[in-house]
Amino acid sequence: MEDVIIGSHVSYKKDSGLVGSVREALSYGSNTFMLYTGAPQNTIRGSIDGKLVEEAYKLMGENNINPKNVVVHAPYIVNLASSDAEKFNFAVSFLKQEIKRTEEMGFDKIVLHPGSHVGAGEEIGLKNIIDGLNQVLKNDTSVDICLETMAGKGSELGKTFDEIKQIIEGVDDNTHLKVCLDTCHINDAGYDLSDFDLILDEFDKKIGLSRLAVLHINDSKNEKGAHKDRHENFGLGTIGFKKLLDVIYNPKLKDVPKILETPYVSEVDGSKDRSFPPYKYEIEMIKSKNFNDNLLEDIRKNYK
Ligand code: FE
Ligand code: FE
Ligand code: ZN
Repeated sequence: MEDVIIGSHVSYKKDSGLVGSVREALSYGSNTFMLYTGAPQNTIRGSIDGKLVEEAYKLMGENNINPKNVVVHAPYIVNLASSDAEKFNFAVSFLKQEIKRTEEMGFDKIVLHPGSHVGAGEEIGLKNIIDGLNQVLKNDTSVDICLETMAGKGSELGKTFDEIKQIIEGVDDNTHLKVCLDTCHINDAGYDLSDFDLILDEFDKKIGLSRLAVLHINDSKNEKGAHKDRHENFGLGTIGFKKLLDVIYNPKLKDVPKILETPYVSEVDGSKDRSFPPYKYEIEMIKSKNFNDNLLEDIRKNYK
C-alpha cells in the first residue's frame, strides 16, 4: 500500500482537549487530522490545556502522526473581507489569537476562508483581505495561514486561482501565506476535475505549487460551476471516486496532508436525529483504492 497522509476534520472538546482529537483521528485509521479550536460556527475560545497537549503529543508520537501535517481551521464567521470596521477588526484580532493558540499546540497551519464582500464588491473585498492579512502576518511566526479555495457561494472571494494570487501578491510579507485547495469548492466554482494535472499546472503558473499546503477532499452534491458548496460523501457525488483518487495519489502532492470534510451519515435517510462519521470507511476505500458499494449501510451498521 502506498503511504498517503490522510485524515479528517475531528472535534475538539473542552474536557478532553487535543487528546480527544487525536483519539478520534486514530479511531478512523488517520495519520493526520484537522480541528477547530472550539465550535466551527462560533468564535468562543478557551485557553489551551498544556497538559492535554503534552499527552496528545505522546499519543501522536506512538502512532506516527507528524504534527507538521496537522491542520487548524479558523471559524467560518471570521470575515477579513468585511467593510464593517467592527467585523474587520474582530477578524484581525481573532486571527492573531488563533495563531498564538496554534503555536501553543505546536502546529503550523491554519486554514482560513478568505472572506465575503457582502455587497461591497470584489475589488473592495479583496483589498480588505489584503489589509487584514498585512496586519495579521506582521509578526514573526512559524504558523502559515492557508487561504482556502472557495465555491463562490454568495459573495465569497477566493473562488478562482486569480483571486488567490491577487491576495498573495498584495500582502507585503507573504512567506507565511499558503493555500488550501478544496475539491468540492473548486468543482462548484467551475473547475473541471477530470484532468487534475491541468488544474495543478494552472495553480503552479499562477500561485506556485510550493504554496499548496493542505487539500480538503470532498465530493460534491452539485454540478461543476453551481457555486453551492454542499459536500458529499467520498465517491457518491458529482466528482466521483476515480477523480478524487487521482487528486489524492497525484505524485506532486505526496507530502500534502489530505483532509476529509464529508458529511456525517444519518441513521435513516433524511432524518436529523442521529448521524455517524463516515471517515473510517472512506479512509479504508482510499487506502485500498476499492469503491465500497455499501458505504452508507456499512457506516450505519457499525454505529448502531
Ligand atoms: Fe473550510
Ligand atoms: Fe474545505
Ligand atoms: Zn465547503
